Amino acid sequence: MTKKKPKKSALNVQKGVEQPSQVNPALTGGMEKFRKQKPSADEYVEGILEGDRTLLSQAITLIESVRPEDKEIARRVISKCLPHSGNSIRLGITGIPGAGKSTFIEAFGIYLIKRGHKVAVLAIDPTSQRSKGSILGDKTRMETLSANPHAFIRPSATSGTLGGVAQATREALILCEAAGFDRIIIETVGVGQSETAVSHIVDFFLLLLIAGAGDELQGIKRGIMEMADLVVINKADGDNKRKAELARKEYENALHLFPLLPSGWAPRVLTASALYGKGLDEIVKALDEYIELTQKNGWFEKNRRSQSLKILHDTILQSLSDSFYHNPEIKDLIRNTEKQITAGKISPYEAAQILLEKYFGTIKKK
Ligand code: GDP
Repeated sequence: MTKKKPKKSALNVQKGVEQPSQVNPALTGGMEKFRKQKPSADEYVEGILEGDRTLLSQAITLIESVRPEDKEIARRVISKCLPHSGNSIRLGITGIPGAGKSTFIEAFGIYLIKRGHKVAVLAIDPTSQRSKGSILGDKTRMETLSANPHAFIRPSATSGTLGGVAQATREALILCEAAGFDRIIIETVGVGQSETAVSHIVDFFLLLLIAGAGDELQGIKRGIMEMADLVVINKADGDNKRKAELARKEYENALHLFPLLPSGWAPRVLTASALYGKGLDEIVKALDEYIELTQKNGWFEKNRRSQSLKILHDTILQSLSDSFYHNPEIKDLIRNTEKQITAGKISPYEAAQILLEKYFGTIKKK
Protein backbone atom coordinates (compact mmCIF):
# COMPACT_ATOMS: atom_id res chain seq x y z
CA MET A 1 0.00 0.00 0.00
CA THR A 2 2.82 2.43 0.84
CA LYS A 3 4.01 2.19 -2.75
CA LYS A 4 0.85 3.92 -3.90
CA LYS A 5 1.36 7.08 -1.88
CA PRO A 6 3.22 9.10 -4.49
CA LYS A 7 0.57 8.22 -7.05
CA LYS A 8 -2.11 9.66 -4.82
CA SER A 9 -0.32 12.91 -4.19
CA ALA A 10 0.28 13.28 -7.90
CA LEU A 11 -3.45 13.13 -8.39
CA ASN A 12 -3.91 15.86 -5.78
CA VAL A 13 -2.88 18.54 -8.18
CA GLN A 14 -5.31 17.52 -10.91
CA LYS A 15 -8.35 19.62 -11.43
CA GLY A 16 -11.74 18.09 -10.77
CA VAL A 17 -10.42 15.35 -8.51
CA GLU A 18 -11.41 15.41 -4.89
CA GLN A 19 -8.46 15.70 -2.56
CA PRO A 20 -7.53 12.22 -1.42
CA SER A 21 -6.27 11.75 2.09
CA GLN A 22 -2.65 12.77 2.66
CA VAL A 23 -2.28 9.80 4.97
CA ASN A 24 -2.70 6.31 3.69
CA PRO A 25 -6.01 5.40 5.35
CA ALA A 26 -5.14 1.71 5.44
CA LEU A 27 -2.14 2.52 7.65
CA THR A 28 -4.10 4.54 10.16
CA GLY A 29 -6.49 1.62 10.50
CA GLY A 30 -9.13 3.88 9.05
CA MET A 31 -10.97 1.74 6.50
CA GLU A 32 -13.98 3.69 7.71
CA LYS A 33 -12.42 6.95 6.60
CA PHE A 34 -11.38 5.35 3.35
CA ARG A 35 -14.97 4.34 2.63
CA LYS A 36 -16.35 7.77 3.34
CA GLN A 37 -14.02 9.40 0.89
CA LYS A 38 -14.76 9.12 -2.77
CA PRO A 39 -12.22 6.82 -4.42
CA SER A 40 -9.98 8.21 -7.14
CA ALA A 41 -10.32 7.06 -10.75
CA ASP A 42 -7.35 4.72 -10.24
CA GLU A 43 -8.92 3.23 -7.13
CA TYR A 44 -12.15 2.59 -9.00
CA VAL A 45 -10.26 0.91 -11.82
CA GLU A 46 -8.20 -1.20 -9.43
CA GLY A 47 -11.33 -2.31 -7.57
CA ILE A 48 -13.24 -3.05 -10.77
CA LEU A 49 -10.40 -5.14 -12.18
CA GLU A 50 -10.38 -7.11 -8.93
CA GLY A 51 -14.11 -7.74 -9.37
CA ASP A 52 -15.18 -5.54 -6.44
CA ARG A 53 -18.94 -5.22 -6.94
CA THR A 54 -19.31 -2.25 -4.58
CA LEU A 55 -16.78 -0.15 -6.48
CA LEU A 56 -18.27 -1.35 -9.77
CA SER A 57 -21.68 -0.20 -8.62
CA GLN A 58 -20.35 3.16 -7.41
CA ALA A 59 -18.55 3.71 -10.70
CA ILE A 60 -21.79 3.06 -12.59
CA THR A 61 -23.46 5.66 -10.39
CA LEU A 62 -20.80 8.14 -11.55
CA ILE A 63 -21.62 7.28 -15.17
CA GLU A 64 -25.27 8.09 -14.50
CA SER A 65 -24.47 11.27 -12.56
CA VAL A 66 -25.16 14.66 -14.08
CA ARG A 67 -22.34 16.35 -12.11
CA PRO A 68 -19.46 17.28 -14.43
CA GLU A 69 -16.82 16.24 -11.85
CA ASP A 70 -18.43 12.77 -11.56
CA LYS A 71 -18.61 12.50 -15.32
CA GLU A 72 -14.94 13.35 -15.60
CA ILE A 73 -13.95 10.57 -13.16
CA ALA A 74 -16.34 8.19 -14.95
CA ARG A 75 -14.75 9.04 -18.29
CA ARG A 76 -11.29 8.21 -16.94
CA VAL A 77 -12.48 4.99 -15.34
CA ILE A 78 -14.15 3.90 -18.58
CA SER A 79 -11.11 4.62 -20.72
CA LYS A 80 -8.87 2.68 -18.33
CA CYS A 81 -11.30 -0.24 -18.26
CA LEU A 82 -11.78 -0.31 -22.02
CA PRO A 83 -8.66 -2.41 -22.75
CA HIS A 84 -9.97 -5.01 -20.28
CA SER A 85 -13.45 -5.13 -21.85
CA GLY A 86 -15.00 -6.97 -24.76
CA ASN A 87 -14.61 -10.48 -23.39
CA SER A 88 -18.23 -11.20 -22.71
CA ILE A 89 -21.25 -12.36 -24.59
CA ARG A 90 -23.78 -9.54 -24.54
CA LEU A 91 -27.38 -10.69 -24.52
CA GLY A 92 -30.44 -8.54 -25.00
CA ILE A 93 -33.65 -9.86 -23.46
CA THR A 94 -36.97 -8.20 -24.07
CA GLY A 95 -40.64 -8.93 -23.55
CA ILE A 96 -43.81 -7.20 -22.43
CA PRO A 97 -44.37 -6.66 -18.69
CA GLY A 98 -45.59 -9.93 -17.23
CA ALA A 99 -43.95 -12.12 -19.88
CA GLY A 100 -41.70 -13.42 -17.12
CA LYS A 101 -38.46 -11.57 -17.85
CA SER A 102 -37.23 -11.33 -14.28
CA THR A 103 -38.24 -14.93 -13.51
CA PHE A 104 -36.50 -16.02 -16.68
CA ILE A 105 -33.34 -13.97 -16.14
CA GLU A 106 -33.10 -15.30 -12.60
CA ALA A 107 -33.38 -18.95 -13.72
CA PHE A 108 -31.18 -18.41 -16.78
CA GLY A 109 -28.58 -16.45 -14.77
CA ILE A 110 -28.31 -19.18 -12.14
CA TYR A 111 -28.02 -21.77 -14.92
CA LEU A 112 -25.16 -19.84 -16.51
CA ILE A 113 -23.40 -19.41 -13.16
CA LYS A 114 -23.61 -23.17 -12.63
CA ARG A 115 -21.82 -23.53 -15.96
CA GLY A 116 -19.01 -21.40 -14.58
CA HIS A 117 -19.98 -17.98 -15.90
CA LYS A 118 -20.18 -14.65 -14.12
CA VAL A 119 -23.44 -12.90 -14.93
CA ALA A 120 -24.26 -9.19 -14.92
CA VAL A 121 -27.78 -7.90 -15.53
CA LEU A 122 -28.29 -4.32 -16.67
CA ALA A 123 -31.62 -2.76 -17.55
CA ILE A 124 -32.77 -0.17 -19.99
CA ASP A 125 -36.10 1.25 -19.06
CA PRO A 126 -36.79 4.81 -20.05
CA THR A 127 -40.28 4.48 -18.52
CA SER A 128 -38.93 3.76 -15.06
CA GLN A 129 -39.04 7.42 -14.12
CA ARG A 130 -42.78 7.48 -14.54
CA SER A 131 -43.53 4.16 -12.97
CA LYS A 132 -40.93 4.62 -10.23
CA GLY A 133 -38.73 1.77 -11.35
CA SER A 134 -41.00 -0.64 -13.10
CA ILE A 135 -38.03 -2.71 -14.06
CA LEU A 136 -35.62 -4.17 -11.55
CA GLY A 137 -36.47 -1.35 -9.18
CA ASP A 138 -38.52 -3.66 -7.07
CA LYS A 139 -36.20 -5.33 -4.60
CA THR A 140 -38.02 -8.63 -4.66
CA ARG A 141 -37.04 -9.21 -8.29
CA MET A 142 -34.28 -11.74 -8.89
CA GLU A 143 -33.61 -12.28 -5.20
CA THR A 144 -31.65 -15.50 -5.61
CA LEU A 145 -29.57 -14.19 -8.46
CA SER A 146 -28.74 -10.91 -6.76
CA ALA A 147 -27.56 -12.78 -3.66
CA ASN A 148 -25.19 -14.90 -5.75
CA PRO A 149 -21.54 -13.80 -5.52
CA HIS A 150 -21.07 -14.45 -9.25
CA ALA A 151 -23.89 -12.13 -10.25
CA PHE A 152 -24.26 -8.39 -10.47
CA ILE A 153 -27.65 -6.76 -10.97
CA ARG A 154 -28.07 -3.13 -11.80
CA PRO A 155 -31.40 -1.35 -12.21
CA SER A 156 -31.95 1.06 -15.06
CA ALA A 157 -30.76 4.62 -14.74
CA THR A 158 -33.92 6.40 -13.65
CA SER A 159 -33.50 9.60 -15.53
CA GLY A 160 -32.59 10.79 -18.94
CA THR A 161 -33.60 10.20 -22.50
CA LEU A 162 -33.52 6.78 -24.09
CA GLY A 163 -30.29 7.73 -25.85
CA GLY A 164 -28.76 8.79 -22.55
CA VAL A 165 -29.89 5.66 -20.73
CA ALA A 166 -28.60 3.48 -23.57
CA GLN A 167 -25.23 5.24 -23.46
CA ALA A 168 -24.98 4.81 -19.69
CA THR A 169 -25.84 1.12 -20.12
CA ARG A 170 -23.19 0.61 -22.78
CA GLU A 171 -20.60 2.26 -20.53
CA ALA A 172 -21.74 0.20 -17.54
CA LEU A 173 -21.33 -2.87 -19.74
CA ILE A 174 -17.67 -2.00 -20.34
CA LEU A 175 -17.06 -1.76 -16.59
CA CYS A 176 -18.86 -5.08 -15.98
CA GLU A 177 -16.67 -6.78 -18.57
CA ALA A 178 -13.55 -5.31 -16.99
CA ALA A 179 -14.80 -6.70 -13.66
CA GLY A 180 -14.78 -10.17 -15.18
CA PHE A 181 -18.47 -10.69 -15.97
CA ASP A 182 -18.55 -12.81 -19.11
CA ARG A 183 -22.29 -13.05 -19.69
CA ILE A 184 -24.02 -9.69 -19.69
CA ILE A 185 -27.77 -9.54 -19.93
CA ILE A 186 -29.42 -6.30 -20.94
CA GLU A 187 -33.10 -6.29 -20.13
CA THR A 188 -35.66 -4.05 -21.78
CA VAL A 189 -39.43 -3.84 -21.71
CA GLY A 190 -40.77 -4.74 -25.11
CA VAL A 191 -43.08 -1.83 -25.54
CA GLY A 192 -41.06 0.88 -27.17
CA GLN A 193 -37.96 1.81 -29.04
CA SER A 194 -35.50 0.68 -26.40
CA GLU A 195 -35.07 -2.61 -28.26
CA THR A 196 -33.52 -0.80 -31.21
CA ALA A 197 -31.11 0.98 -28.88
CA VAL A 198 -30.26 -2.36 -27.26
CA SER A 199 -29.72 -4.10 -30.57
CA HIS A 200 -26.77 -1.75 -31.10
CA ILE A 201 -25.19 -2.89 -27.87
CA VAL A 202 -25.72 -6.66 -27.81
CA ASP A 203 -24.45 -9.73 -29.69
CA PHE A 204 -27.61 -11.79 -29.36
CA PHE A 205 -31.23 -10.79 -28.98
CA LEU A 206 -33.77 -12.94 -27.16
CA LEU A 207 -37.48 -12.14 -27.33
CA LEU A 208 -39.58 -13.55 -24.52
CA LEU A 209 -43.24 -14.11 -25.35
CA ILE A 210 -46.21 -15.87 -23.80
CA ALA A 211 -48.90 -17.88 -25.53
CA GLY A 212 -52.51 -16.83 -25.69
CA ALA A 213 -52.07 -13.31 -24.43
CA GLY A 214 -54.78 -12.09 -26.78
CA ASP A 215 -53.21 -10.13 -29.55
CA GLU A 216 -51.08 -12.50 -31.62
CA LEU A 217 -48.00 -10.38 -31.51
CA GLN A 218 -48.67 -8.95 -28.06
CA GLY A 219 -47.98 -5.45 -29.17
CA ILE A 220 -44.55 -6.66 -30.16
CA LYS A 221 -43.93 -4.91 -33.40
CA ARG A 222 -42.68 -6.70 -36.46
CA GLY A 223 -39.41 -4.79 -36.16
CA ILE A 224 -38.71 -6.45 -32.84
CA MET A 225 -39.51 -9.90 -34.25
CA GLU A 226 -37.06 -9.20 -37.06
CA MET A 227 -34.34 -8.40 -34.57
CA ALA A 228 -34.74 -11.61 -32.58
CA ASP A 229 -32.11 -14.33 -32.80
CA LEU A 230 -34.19 -16.46 -30.49
CA VAL A 231 -37.86 -16.32 -29.56
CA VAL A 232 -38.79 -18.06 -26.33
CA ILE A 233 -42.42 -18.82 -25.51
CA ASN A 234 -42.37 -18.71 -21.72
CA LYS A 235 -44.78 -20.22 -19.20
CA ALA A 236 -44.89 -23.51 -21.10
CA ASP A 237 -46.11 -25.41 -18.04
CA GLY A 238 -49.33 -26.94 -16.70
CA ASP A 239 -52.39 -26.21 -18.83
CA ASN A 240 -50.42 -23.75 -20.86
CA LYS A 241 -47.99 -26.29 -22.28
CA ARG A 242 -50.05 -27.18 -25.35
CA LYS A 243 -50.88 -23.56 -26.15
CA ALA A 244 -47.21 -22.67 -25.85
CA GLU A 245 -46.29 -25.40 -28.33
CA LEU A 246 -48.92 -24.14 -30.80
CA ALA A 247 -47.65 -20.60 -30.42
CA ARG A 248 -44.11 -21.85 -30.97
CA LYS A 249 -45.15 -23.35 -34.32
CA GLU A 250 -46.97 -20.16 -35.33
CA TYR A 251 -44.00 -17.97 -34.57
CA GLU A 252 -41.70 -20.38 -36.31
CA ASN A 253 -43.82 -20.10 -39.44
CA ALA A 254 -43.92 -16.32 -39.12
CA LEU A 255 -40.14 -16.15 -38.79
CA HIS A 256 -39.68 -18.16 -41.97
CA LEU A 257 -41.24 -15.27 -43.86
CA PHE A 258 -38.62 -12.81 -42.68
CA PRO A 259 -35.46 -12.26 -44.67
CA LEU A 260 -32.37 -14.13 -43.52
CA LEU A 261 -30.37 -12.29 -40.87
CA PRO A 262 -27.03 -10.85 -41.99
CA SER A 263 -25.35 -12.99 -39.32
CA GLY A 264 -26.22 -16.11 -41.34
CA TRP A 265 -28.10 -17.39 -38.31
CA ALA A 266 -31.60 -18.81 -38.73
CA PRO A 267 -33.61 -17.57 -35.71
CA ARG A 268 -35.25 -20.26 -33.59
CA VAL A 269 -38.40 -20.46 -31.54
CA LEU A 270 -38.30 -22.49 -28.32
CA THR A 271 -40.61 -23.00 -25.36
CA ALA A 272 -39.59 -22.68 -21.71
CA SER A 273 -40.90 -22.47 -18.22
CA ALA A 274 -38.84 -19.95 -16.31
CA LEU A 275 -40.79 -20.76 -13.17
CA TYR A 276 -39.87 -24.46 -13.25
CA GLY A 277 -36.48 -24.01 -14.94
CA LYS A 278 -37.57 -25.97 -18.03
CA GLY A 279 -36.16 -25.49 -21.51
CA LEU A 280 -33.00 -23.71 -20.38
CA ASP A 281 -30.71 -26.42 -21.84
CA GLU A 282 -32.08 -25.80 -25.32
CA ILE A 283 -31.80 -22.04 -24.96
CA VAL A 284 -28.19 -22.17 -23.83
CA LYS A 285 -27.46 -24.65 -26.63
CA ALA A 286 -28.94 -22.25 -29.20
CA LEU A 287 -26.85 -19.42 -27.77
CA ASP A 288 -23.68 -21.53 -27.89
CA GLU A 289 -24.38 -22.50 -31.49
CA TYR A 290 -25.01 -18.88 -32.41
CA ILE A 291 -21.70 -17.81 -30.88
CA GLU A 292 -19.84 -20.62 -32.59
CA LEU A 293 -21.36 -19.86 -35.99
CA THR A 294 -20.89 -16.10 -35.86
CA GLN A 295 -17.38 -16.29 -34.47
CA LYS A 296 -16.47 -18.67 -37.25
CA ASN A 297 -18.07 -16.70 -40.07
CA GLY A 298 -16.71 -13.40 -38.80
CA TRP A 299 -20.08 -11.79 -38.08
CA PHE A 300 -19.47 -11.53 -34.34
CA GLU A 301 -16.46 -9.22 -34.68
CA LYS A 302 -17.84 -7.42 -37.71
CA ASN A 303 -21.05 -6.65 -35.86
CA ARG A 304 -19.18 -5.31 -32.82
CA ARG A 305 -17.03 -3.10 -35.01
CA SER A 306 -20.02 -1.68 -36.87
CA GLN A 307 -21.83 -1.17 -33.54
CA SER A 308 -18.90 0.92 -32.31
CA LEU A 309 -18.85 2.98 -35.48
CA LYS A 310 -22.59 3.49 -35.29
CA ILE A 311 -22.20 4.76 -31.73
CA LEU A 312 -19.50 7.16 -32.92
CA HIS A 313 -21.69 8.63 -35.66
CA ASP A 314 -24.86 8.66 -33.58
CA THR A 315 -23.04 10.50 -30.81
CA ILE A 316 -21.68 13.07 -33.23
CA LEU A 317 -25.10 13.64 -34.79
CA GLN A 318 -26.74 13.88 -31.38
CA SER A 319 -24.16 16.36 -30.09
CA LEU A 320 -24.44 18.51 -33.21
CA SER A 321 -28.21 18.47 -33.05
CA ASP A 322 -28.19 19.37 -29.33
CA SER A 323 -25.72 22.17 -29.95
CA PHE A 324 -27.87 23.51 -32.81
CA TYR A 325 -31.22 23.40 -31.04
CA HIS A 326 -29.85 24.73 -27.75
CA ASN A 327 -28.09 27.62 -29.44
CA PRO A 328 -29.84 30.77 -28.07
CA GLU A 329 -29.84 32.61 -31.41
CA ILE A 330 -31.28 29.62 -33.22
CA LYS A 331 -33.87 29.14 -30.50
CA ASP A 332 -35.07 32.69 -31.09
CA LEU A 333 -35.24 32.26 -34.83
CA ILE A 334 -36.70 28.83 -35.20
CA ARG A 335 -40.32 29.52 -34.20
CA ASN A 336 -40.59 32.39 -36.59
CA THR A 337 -39.05 30.33 -39.36
CA GLU A 338 -41.52 27.53 -38.73
CA LYS A 339 -44.38 30.03 -39.05
CA GLN A 340 -42.99 31.27 -42.33
CA ILE A 341 -42.73 27.74 -43.65
CA THR A 342 -46.29 26.78 -42.68
CA ALA A 343 -47.54 30.05 -44.20
CA GLY A 344 -45.80 29.07 -47.44
CA LYS A 345 -43.54 32.13 -47.36
CA ILE A 346 -40.29 30.24 -47.52
CA SER A 347 -39.32 26.73 -48.54
CA PRO A 348 -38.20 24.42 -45.76
CA TYR A 349 -34.94 23.70 -47.63
CA GLU A 350 -34.08 27.36 -47.92
CA ALA A 351 -35.06 27.98 -44.30
CA ALA A 352 -32.84 25.10 -43.15
CA GLN A 353 -29.96 26.56 -45.12
CA ILE A 354 -30.45 30.00 -43.59
CA LEU A 355 -30.65 28.59 -40.06
CA LEU A 356 -27.55 26.46 -40.58
CA GLU A 357 -25.58 29.39 -41.93
CA LYS A 358 -26.69 31.46 -38.97
CA TYR A 359 -25.66 28.65 -36.62
CA PHE A 360 -22.21 28.21 -38.15
CA GLY A 361 -21.82 32.01 -38.01
CA THR A 362 -22.41 31.95 -34.26
CA ILE A 363 -19.90 29.12 -33.86
CA LYS A 364 -17.21 31.06 -35.77
CA LYS A 365 -17.79 34.10 -33.56
CA LYS A 366 -16.89 32.01 -30.49
P1 GDP B 1 -41.73 -9.48 -16.08
O1 GDP B 1 -42.67 -8.37 -15.81
O2 GDP B 1 -41.62 -9.76 -17.53
O3 GDP B 1 -40.39 -9.31 -15.42
O4 GDP B 1 -42.40 -10.80 -15.46
P2 GDP B 1 -42.16 -11.55 -14.07
O5 GDP B 1 -40.93 -12.36 -14.11
O6 GDP B 1 -42.32 -10.58 -12.97
O7 GDP B 1 -43.37 -12.58 -14.07
C1 GDP B 1 -44.72 -12.17 -14.12
C2 GDP B 1 -45.58 -13.28 -13.50
O8 GDP B 1 -45.49 -14.46 -14.31
C3 GDP B 1 -45.12 -13.68 -12.11
O9 GDP B 1 -46.25 -13.93 -11.33
C4 GDP B 1 -44.34 -14.96 -12.35
O10 GDP B 1 -44.36 -15.84 -11.24
C5 GDP B 1 -45.08 -15.57 -13.52
N1 GDP B 1 -44.20 -16.41 -14.33
C6 GDP B 1 -42.99 -16.10 -14.84
N2 GDP B 1 -42.48 -17.14 -15.52
C7 GDP B 1 -43.39 -18.14 -15.45
C8 GDP B 1 -43.44 -19.48 -15.98
O11 GDP B 1 -42.54 -19.98 -16.62
N3 GDP B 1 -44.59 -20.20 -15.71
C9 GDP B 1 -45.61 -19.68 -15.01
N4 GDP B 1 -46.68 -20.46 -14.82
N5 GDP B 1 -45.60 -18.44 -14.50
C10 GDP B 1 -44.50 -17.68 -14.71
